[in-house]
Amino acid sequence: LTEFELIERYFRRPARNAVLGVGDDAALIAPSPGFEIAASVDMLVEDRHFFAGTEAEALGHKTLAVNLSDLAAMGATPRWALLALALPAVDEAWLAAFARGFFALADAHGVDLVGGDTTRGPRNLCVTVLGEVPAGKALRRSGAKGGDSIWVSGKLGDAALAIAHRLNRIRLEGADLADCEGALGRPAPRVALGLALRGIASAVIDVSDGLVGDLGHVLDASHIGATIDIDALPHSSALDRQLGGANREIALQCLLAGGDDYELCFTAPRARDGAIAALGDKLGLQLTRIGIATAQHAGLEIRDASGCALEPLPRAFDHFAP
Ligand code: ADP
Ligand code: MG
Repeated sequence: LTEFELIERYFRRPARNAVLGVGDDAALIAPSPGFEIAASVDMLVEDRHFFAGTEAEALGHKTLAVNLSDLAAMGATPRWALLALALPAVDEAWLAAFARGFFALADAHGVDLVGGDTTRGPRNLCVTVLGEVPAGKALRRSGAKGGDSIWVSGKLGDAALAIAHRLNRIRLEGADLADCEGALGRPAPRVALGLALRGIASAVIDVSDGLVGDLGHVLDASHIGATIDIDALPHSSALDRQLGGANREIALQCLLAGGDDYELCFTAPRARDGAIAALGDKLGLQLTRIGIATAQHAGLEIRDASGCALEPLPRAFDHFAP
């Protein structure tokens, strides 16, 4: 299979949203009048972001999902994607499964794959996504105010728990293992939530590197502080079992700073608490109020049931941390 046969067979699809899709030197896209383009790129590197041997269909899903999550956090409607692939060899079964996972999610969100690049090299999956948002309406990290409620979607920590299991730091079994592996392998980007939060949320971020670090970015960008209640943090029964046992420290680390959650953390005025609860019901998505923003730019305080502050806070993931 040549490079061009590979592109033709697995990645060329009729473009629905684009003037010109795969096949020329560049794609042509026409943004809708009155909209801004939200653009984001995310790279998944083998042995860094995913374990070698990860199922190709799940990888196809995840490589797009992590990008859609960034658009969700901006309140943008995903429209176009570009895919840069480095592969060690042509493996048609792998490519077919990868494309299946990728296009299933792309189709679910009406996203066109309009271009990319394909090369031989250590396995590396890099997606660029482009979305649209009405001019001036994008959600940012910088709009939170003291007194705002702080919310998070879904549950935190399961993906990190699956990684801890793979690294033999903890032992998960049965349904707990399956649930956590599912969270790691097939995150659901919260696109509908991101769109619905336009005009409601004061600041939004997607939780990709763990709550402590990502909420920290919102606090810094908004020049505020926050107090959150550790017992309010939404988590699975799998994580709850670990919290209650000998692995409490590891489970706390996963919950607060594990990463790979791809949930949205957002702030909104307290007057919107009811509207947000109703939105969660409407979307069939758990939305949990986890704390409150404070006017002073004084960092993040995490309190337990007895009111004691957790210290030190677990560190967020950083690829270049010493
Ligand atoms: P160029 O040499 O001009 O960079 P390429 O030969 O790399 O173009 O790619 C040919 C066409 O196929 C281009 O339209 C490019 O965007 C598209 N393409 C290449 N790889 C992929 C891929 N993995 N997925 C989707 N489109 C791809
Ligand atoms: Mg090229």
